[in-house]
Amino acid sequence: MALPATLLIVDDDDGVRALLDSALRDVEATRALHADMLSAQKYVEDGGRVDVALVDKNLPDGTGAQFIGWLRQHVPAAEAVLMTAQTSIDSAVEAMKAGACDYVRKPFDDLSQLRMRVCDALEKVALKRSQTLLMEKLWHEALHDPLTGLANRTAFLDRLRTSLDELRRNPDRLYAVLFIDIDRFKHVNDNLGHQEGDKLIATIGQRIAAAVRETDVVARLDGDEFTVLLREIEQPTDAARVAERIHQSFTEPIRVGGREIFTTCSIGAALSNDPRDPDSASSVAFAEAMLRNADLAMYRAKRGGKSATHFFDAEMQARAQRSWQLESSLHEALKNGEISVAYQPIMALPERRLAGFEALVRWRSPTLGQVAPLELVAIAEECGLIDAVFEHVLDTAVHQLRAWQQQLGESALSMSVNLSSKQLSGAHFVERVLAHLHAAEVPASALELEITESALMDDPERARGILEGLRDAGVRLSIDDFGTGYSSLSHLSRLPVSSLKIDRSFVMDAAAANIVGFVVDLARHLHLHVVAEGVEKEMELESLLAHGCGFAQGYYFSKPLAADAMSAWLATRR
Ligand code: C2E
Ligand code: MG
Ligand code: MG
Repeated sequence: MALPATLLIVDDDDGVRALLDSALRDVEATRALHADMLSAQKYVEDGGRVDVALVDKNLPDGTGAQFIGWLRQHVPAAEAVLMTAQTSIDSAVEAMKAGACDYVRKPFDDLSQLRMRVCDALEKVALKRSQTLLMEKLWHEALHDPLTGLANRTAFLDRLRTSLDELRRNPDRLYAVLFIDIDRFKHVNDNLGHQEGDKLIATIGQRIAAAVRETDVVARLDGDEFTVLLREIEQPTDAARVAERIHQSFTEPIRVGGREIFTTCSIGAALSNDPRDPDSASSVAFAEAMLRNADLAMYRAKRGGKSATHFFDAEMQARAQRSWQLESSLHEALKNGEISVAYQPIMALPERRLAGFEALVRWRSPTLGQVAPLELVAIAEECGLIDAVFEHVLDTAVHQLRAWQQQLGESALSMSVNLSSKQLSGAHFVERVLAHLHAAEVPASALELEITESALMDDPERARGILEGLRDAGVRLSIDDFGTGYSSLSHLSRLPVSSLKIDRSFVMDAAAANIVGFVVDLARHLHLHVVAEGVEKEMELESLLAHGCGFAQGYYFSKPLAADAMSAWLATRR
C-alpha cells in the first residue's frame, strides 16, 4: 500500500504553524512542521517524506525561494507552495521562479480556499508519482526478461557497449563475454512440456546469477541462451574459472514437474582484447562483434561435447571474417554474373549413351578467388540467398538444356539441379520451378532435382509436401550422396523419388562393391534408377557394369565443364 502523503510546513511564526496544522487536518496527508530552513532541510536529509511543502516567504535563516530551490533539487517529485503577505503580482512571479507551483496569501482569510490549493498540489504530485511508476515499470519491462527477471538482449548489449566505452579510457582493462547454451534443451523441453521447461530455465537463470559476482551482468537472450558480462577481469583464466563455476552449478539436479532433471551447458567465451575487424570501431559494433564471437565459440564448445567451454580464437576469427566477406560479396556476385554453372554429363549404362547433365554451381570472385560450391551453398543458406542462387542455376541450366536438346536433336536429355535442405519449406516453390521451365520451353519431365540423403532424412515429413508437389508437376527427384546418411527404408519407399545417386566413396572403394550391389538390388525393388557418382577409373566402371548399375557420371567421362567447353565435348563425341 502507498504511504500517506506528507505536507511539509516551514514557517517561523508559531501561530501560523498551529493554524495550518489544524486547518489542514482533514486533508489526507500527514504534516511535518518546521520553523526554519535548516531544520526543514535536516528533516529531508534524514529521509523525511515530502509531497507538498508550504513555505513562508521569509524564514529566519534564508528566503522561502531559497528553500524551494533546494527542495526541488533534492526531491524533484515534490511540489512547493509559497506563502506570502504581499499582494502584488511580484510574489507570484517570485514563487514561480523559485520553482513553486502555486502561492497563497497570508493571513488566510478563506481556509477552504487554502485547503483547495493544497489538495490541488497534492493531486499533482500523486499524478506525477504514478506516471513515474508507470514509466519505471515500462522501462523495467523493456530491459528485462519476464521469465527470469534477468536483463534481456537489449539491456545486455547496452551494458556491454557502455563497458566497452570505458575501455577506451582505460585500455588496460579486460572484459569477457560468456555465451551459455543449455545442452539438449529442446529435447528436455519437448519431454517436460513448455511450462516445466520455463521453470527449468528460471532455475538455471538463478544458478548462473549465483555463480558470478554482483557487478557482472547476467542476461537471458532467448530460449535457452544466457550471457554473462564479466567486468574487469585480470586475465583470460579468470573467465575460464567463472565458466567452470557455472558448469559446476549445473551438477546438482533441478526439480521440476516432480522429476529431477540433470542438465549441462556449453559455454563460449570472447575477450575484449580478441583480434577484431576494423569494421567494429564503434562501441555498438564492438559489442555486437563480441557477442557474436562468444556465440561462435559456444558452437565450437557444443561440437566438443557436453559441459565444455571454448574461447574464441584466431582461427575462428579468420573463419568468421571469411564468411562475413563471402556473405557481403554474394549479393553483388549474383548481380554481376560472377555465379556460373558447370555441367557434367550423366551416362546411361551399359551402352555409355549420354542421358543428361548435372548442373553444378561455380563462383569465381574477383576478390576471393574460386569459392567451393559447398562453401557458397552454406553461406547462401545462412544469409537467405539460397533461393536466389538456386533459381539462377536452375534458370541458366534449363535454358542451356534447351539449347543442347535442339543442337543435338535429342529431346530426351535431362538436367539435374541440386536443391538445398533449406529449400524444402518455401512457399510457391513448385510454381517458381515450373515458371523457369516454362520460360525455357523445357518440359517438367526433363528436370531432375537432387536432394542429399541427410537433408531428406532430417525431417522427411516436412519435405514430403514439396516433393509430392514437384512429382505431381512431373519433375523427377533423386537422392544425392546416397549411402552417407541414414535413410530409413520405410521413408525411402514412401518418398516420391525416382533415383538414387550412390556416393563416390562407395564407387571408389573396391571393398564397398557389395554395397553398390545392395543399392542396385534395393533400387530395383523400389523401381528406382541408380546413378553412380564420381567414376574416375575404367575398373570402377567395370565393377558398376557388373552390378547392373544403370547410370554413371565422373571424371572418367568428363569433369564438370563450362557451357562452351561442354558444347565442344559434345561435338567431339558425334
Ligand atoms: P554433388 O551434388 O554430389 O556433386 C558431385 C560433386 O562431385 C561435384 O563437386 C563434382 O564436381 C564432383 N565430381 C564429379 N565427378 C567426380 C569424380 O570423378 N571425382 C571426384 N573426386 N569428384 C567428382 P562440386 O561441384 O565441388 O560440388 C560439391 C557439392 O556442392 C555437390 O555435390 C552439391 O552437393 C553441392 N552443389 C553444387 N552445386 C550446387 C547447387 O547449385 N545448389 C546446391 N544446393 N548445391 C550444390
Ligand atoms: Mg548432386
Ligand atoms: Mg553427390
